Amino acid sequence: ATPMSIMVGVGRGAELGVLVKNAEALERLEKVDTLVVDKTGTLTEGRPSVVAVEAIGKIGEDGLLRLVAAVEQASEHPLAEAILREADRRSIDIPQASDFTSPTGKGVQATVEGREVVIGNALMLAERGIEVAELSDRADAFRDDGATAVLVAIDGAPAGVVAVADRVRPTTPEALASLRADGVTVVMLTGDNRRTAMAVARRLGIEMVEADVLPDQKKDVVEKLRDEGRIVAMAGDGVNDAPALAAADVGIAMGGGTDVAIESAGVTLLNSDLTSITRARTLSAKTMANIR
Ligand code: ADP
Ligand code: MG
Repeated sequence: ATPMSIMVGVGRGAELGVLVKNAEALERLEKVDTLVVDKTGTLTEGRPSVVAVEAIGKIGEDGLLRLVAAVEQASEHPLAEAILREADRRSIDIPQASDFTSPTGKGVQATVEGREVVIGNALMLAERGIEVAELSDRADAFRDDGATAVLVAIDGAPAGVVAVADRVRPTTPEALASLRADGVTVVMLTGDNRRTAMAVARRLGIEMVEADVLPDQKKDVVEKLRDEGRIVAMAGDGVNDAPALAAADVGIAMGGGTDVAIESAGVTLLNSDLTSITRARTLSAKTMANIR
């Protein structure tokens, strides 16, 4: 490989909004046949908002949201931001929480006004011996709309559901269409619930979905696909995505994503626009043709 052509390629990439960190990434892009893509913050904007609050019993919507917001104050997850914005919108006074814990990829828990508040996915509640059937039934309607259902329990009893929805990035459908036209298989990878993931995938025409994936398992999915002989690119934005980005043949970080993701990837999409992947692949093919 002549360094000159690579340098020209890297320069052209920058003009296209694609920051190429290493030459191998540029070389491999054209050969990629499978794109694994994180859902939240990559296919979607990653700035979700609360679309519904359902409270069980007499606590009421605002009463439930008050306790949930108290716990989420200590979390930096986008779901927490959405919940705090909604509490603010409703002018709810948020009490203090103590004994906060947050098992990654599952949820958050704390004590608020002497009550034990557990918030998160079904696993988060089930692991604490909380009955999730009733909450899951209520959650399914939201999940089928593509929203993330945050389950809430107070003192060990089911207390409600907060539905949070994130918009698909406007450039995502076009990006997927051109990748598909190029023969690239797209796999959605998410820590979110299978039902939510399937609803979003259906809307986007994505056929392969890996859902309910814990943060430390995202990398395993990439490795499994590589073991099948595929040339795998992984696109993601989060801290959770970093090991998977590093494990892929080409790691692609969203420019608006976390620093850890950007550091773990060979390529960064400066404008967080997935259509740049196709442009970068064309550039990769041209660069390699110049070298051969
Ligand atoms: P993603 O891959 O979609 O970015 P994460 O791995 O960060 O998801 O989280 C997986 C799931 O864990 C979320 O869909 C949510 O149900 C739950 N969860 C994680 N953090 C929180 C939080 N702060 N509040 C409520 N639920 C949470
Ligand atoms: Mg993400």
